Amino acid sequence: MNRQLSSWGRFPYAPQTADTCHWRHEVPSKLCSLVSTQGSTLPYGNGRSYGDSCLAASDHVLSLRSLDRFIQVDWQRGRVVAEAGVTLAQILEISIPRGWFLAVAPGTQLATLGGAIANDVHGKNHHVRGTFGNYLISMGLLRHREEVVTCSASQNTELYSATIGGLGLTGIILWAEIQLIPILSSQIDSVTVRFGSLEEFFSLSAELDAKHEYSVAWIDCLSKGSQVGRGVFIVGDHAHYGSLIEKERTQLVMPFSPPISLINKASLRVFNEVYWRLHPSERALRRNSYESFFFPLDRINNWNRIYGRKGFQQYQCVIPEAVAPRVMGEVLRVISSSGQGSFLAVLKRCGEIVSPGILSFPMKGTSLALDFPQNTQLASLFERLDSMVHEAGGRLYPAKDAHMKGCDFRRAYPAWQQLEVLRDPTLMSRFWKRVIE
Ligand SMILES: Cc1cc2nc3c(=O)[nH]c(=O)nc-3n(C[C@H](O)[C@H](O)[C@H](O)COP(=O)(O)OP(=O)(O)OC[C@H]3O[C@@H](n4cnc5c(N)ncnc54)[C@H](O)[C@@H]3O)c2cc1C
Repeated sequence: MNRQLSSWGRFPYAPQTADTCHWRHEVPSKLCSLVSTQGSTLPYGNGRSYGDSCLAASDHVLSLRSLDRFIQVDWQRGRVVAEAGVTLAQILEISIPRGWFLAVAPGTQLATLGGAIANDVHGKNHHVRGTFGNYLISMGLLRHREEVVTCSASQNTELYSATIGGLGLTGIILWAEIQLIPILSSQIDSVTVRFGSLEEFFSLSAELDAKHEYSVAWIDCLSKGSQVGRGVFIVGDHAHYGSLIEKERTQLVMPFSPPISLINKASLRVFNEVYWRLHPSERALRRNSYESFFFPLDRINNWNRIYGRKGFQQYQCVIPEAVAPRVMGEVLRVISSSGQGSFLAVLKRCGEIVSPGILSFPMKGTSLALDFPQNTQLASLFERLDSMVHEAGGRLYPAKDAHMKGCDFRRAYPAWQQLEVLRDPTLMSRFWKRVIE
């Protein structure tokens, strides 16, 4: 009871008081008592969303992280039924030794099952697998003063589609059943090569994406002129031989929040130059542990503290395929001339597999995700970027957002009204209040 929680970017600063549920059967009464004292609340997973979509409008959340039990597993078919607070790391810990992997893994394994569904997360294999919701078989959903309902592609279908990517607003997911994919080894065979421009990124992506399960690129957000969009291209596949047992990796810790961000123009320029040059100009094959390939940042506990006490924002947009090369070039030029950003900058082509979720973020096109230390100049930079994204017919990712204007959200996600109709009126986030009012 009464732990203070925040979002991953720690911006906006809005400490959340948390009521914790330890057992599924106590969720209805905890929900009722929070609603009667606070008016509304919001389910909270593990706080790996960057902006305000995991923050309750009342600043009182219902924490589901302790609902972390496996209910049923079927290792013949690779199906797992688990409580919503189980993290993706906990699933991988038991599934990998049995030869199964998550069909879709985002860049952190510390997201919960409930959080992964509510943001319909995507990963480095969006071009071949789609989103997390594409592998959700069923889930148990609890709404205020109602019985728990099972939602699937054939049962309570409206709620099923609205809850996938539904930002925790349609009800509390108590449990979910997901389909995993078979693997022969826990390791990933990767090919890495640096590239010198955005044009090269698009030609590498056109050549390599279709041949590999995973594909992603790091980019140097400060590069200018003909080098705009230079970076490092990485593709990978589950290895066909090797062990299913992984060595435990050592954890590092960022012990405190410095008063100011450790990421600034000077440190960033040096880091980006060195990082780019360290990577091979010829394609290099490597074998990686799955954790270093998928979740490099999870190795440092509380890495978000490097941005100092003011926190940071992530800007993640997706630009439709037809205009992506031109618009992404313009977006990157604007970012580079602003001199802002961080070394965490990721470019990725998204595919055309449609999610069952009505508010899912990815679309066929190219996605850019970039962290920015919080400062007063961000608002004007984001305003410029937003207008480019919206003119191009693209959209921003609510899981990462703390600034998007309501009119931009409503234009980019026309199904928002369907979600609003199905929203449990006792659930309200700071994000939803900001974008629909
Ligand atoms: C390092 C890092 C890398 C990331 N990489 C990616 C990426 O590659 N792709 C991607 O898509 N995302 C990525 N993310 C974002 C992250 O995967 C999502 O924000 C995810 O939803 C966080 O899950 P969580 O359990 O922490 O949920 P929270 O952040 O606590 O909550 C997220 C949403 O889920 C809702 N929710 C949580 N639990 C429940 C429940 N039981 N029932 C109903 N609603 C619930 C909340 O109300 C909220 O709306 C990344 C985040 C980090 C920190």
